[in-house]
Amino acid sequence: MLAARMHGYKQPLVLEQINVPEIAPDQVLVKVGGAGMCRSDVQLIDGYFAEALKSTFPLTPGHEIAGLIAEIGKQVPASAQLAVGDQVVVAAGWGDGVCRQCRVGNEQLCDHGSWPGFGPPGGYAEFIPVPYRQLIRVEHRQKWEDLAPLTDAGVTPYRGIKKLRAAGVLGPDRVMGVFGASGLGSYAVQYAKLLSAGATVVAFARNDEKLAIAKERGADATINTRGKSLADIQQELFKLTGARKLDAAIDCVGAEETIQTGIGLLHTSGAFVSVGLVGTKINIPLFPFTAGELTYHGSFWANYSDLQEVLALAQRGKIQHSIKRIQFRDINENLELLRAGDIIGRAVIVFDVPWDGSDAGSAKS
Ligand SMILES: [Zn+2]
Repeated sequence: MLAARMHGYKQPLVLEQINVPEIAPDQVLVKVGGAGMCRSDVQLIDGYFAEALKSTFPLTPGHEIAGLIAEIGKQVPASAQLAVGDQVVVAAGWGDGVCRQCRVGNEQLCDHGSWPGFGPPGGYAEFIPVPYRQLIRVEHRQKWEDLAPLTDAGVTPYRGIKKLRAAGVLGPDRVMGVFGASGLGSYAVQYAKLLSAGATVVAFARNDEKLAIAKERGADATINTRGKSLADIQQELFKLTGARKLDAAIDCVGAEETIQTGIGLLHTSGAFVSVGLVGTKINIPLFPFTAGELTYHGSFWANYSDLQEVLALAQRGKIQHSIKRIQFRDINENLELLRAGDIIGRAVIVFDVPWDGSDAGSAKS
């Protein structure tokens, strides 16, 4: 099979023929139909996670994966209800199953966890072995490019916004900010509208083309923050919404500058959630944070149930996608575009695998 693999940091991926992986008895072989391309793949290649992951090479990246079941391991129980030819998405965050985090369902937080594409082989290949418990069967078949990104870009902001909802800062008379309007941000504005019980949703980014998509996806207002001071942005926010402050905000970028802006715009008792990871540190003034009783949530990826919920929304047509379809052979040039921030929406590698069920009988070929 063809795979695009890392042989070291800061090098292009090598597209090469390797053997189709053998599966363990509790694994399922998935024929990859779609693999989303994430900014964290660029970070992986650049060595951002080198300390945390201690990767060995060659490594196949790709953690947003949808595909067809090609083969089922001998110990996969019938109760899993998986069959060859089924369309599935891969929940990432594979925990040990026994720690406190795993027991409450947050396998993505497991201390002994792993993530496909960050150690175990990922979706930048024609086949991938997956533990059977990490698959979700898709009832009504959907296009690869609409399914694959749900497993990260389409679910990570969903979990983050659930935390804001639980914090009690969303409602009809509230204003919520979404920072970033790329892969994650264009999904975040939709969940902001779906989960905020009527709050005014404002998207903030530095690119008008991306903000136009956020508007199409349901943002009530957009603000281009490029070159503007916090006071400028507050003024613009006031003009657009009648409020100078935000009750809630989600940061999908993870740059120090966007987080400072977001926290700076937060109202007394406001809540902020970070899902983006670009920078390495945050620097927030302490007095307004403590005296204003602000809350800062970290939110990491999503758990299996979050993905089931997002998939349920997608299956009912409640999620709109902004996708750039990519040919597998063009992966390296698109990683460069991703690095430069020049991809609008989510880039998804779409493999030559029918999504509509017409290939179900010949999944392993
Ligand atoms: Zn665990």
